[in-house]
Amino acid sequence: MTAPADDHTPQALEDDNLLTVDGLALRVQVSARRRRFALTVEADAGLTLHAPQGRSAADAADFVRAHRTWLVSRRALRERARPLNPAKRLVEGEVFRYLGRTYRLAVVGDGLGDDRVRLVAGRLIISRALAEDMALGRAALVDWYCRAGHAWVTERLQPWAARMSVPEPVVDVCDLGSRWGAYRSGEASRASDHMSLGWPLFQLPMHLIDYVIAHELAHARIPGHGVRFWRLVGQALPEYEERRMELDELGRRMWMGEIV
Ligand SMILES: [Zn+2]
Repeated sequence: MTAPADDHTPQALEDDNLLTVDGLALRVQVSARRRRFALTVEADAGLTLHAPQGRSAADAADFVRAHRTWLVSRRALRERARPLNPAKRLVEGEVFRYLGRTYRLAVVGDGLGDDRVRLVAGRLIISRALAEDMALGRAALVDWYCRAGHAWVTERLQPWAARMSVPEPVVDVCDLGSRWGAYRSGEASRASDHMSLGWPLFQLPMHLIDYVIAHELAHARIPGHGVRFWRLVGQALPEYEERRMELDELGRRMWMGEIV
């Protein structure tokens, strides 16, 4: 004889369950310490329901329904800000951007005596040995962006510094993680000021790199991002707000160095 199914015992939520409520999918996290339900929208726009132990799926669904409007609007906000950075493959024809234009990768046979990436006749040239080693290939590409970006910004810096009446800082192009730029005042040590720009910035069109240059140079006079800071940026670049928004929007679609 089998035990009769007990239809009246509500099914308890378990950790890592996937709960679907009126088309919303939520990952369940059960915690013994928790007393109440709670909801979070993760950075990747995923939804999490935090639940106390022993609560039923029906209770959880009621809670989610009661907060549906908040969840949906919150998720939409996250979706808009979500990074969409693509990964690249080190294969013939892969597309890379530089100063807003696209260049295809050309993988060439060895024996060139060159372990650097070069831009020749509209193609980014990489040796087969580099292309076949993800870490070395990535490093060679990042190195190319650093060198090319540095040469470009060196030319560009002087007019901006003059326009903003600030001394020209020492500039370097390097890996700044997800930041586009950083500014360090040399005043205390009587050294020159130092401006760093992240290499992925140089994938963007020139007018957006200009915005970052103007932004960082404004920090030569005003640290922080207060009203006076933005007024100064606005004097040098009246359309800075549009550029800042465009940078946010385009920036999250740029390659940040991930190779697959
Ligand atoms: Zn800043």
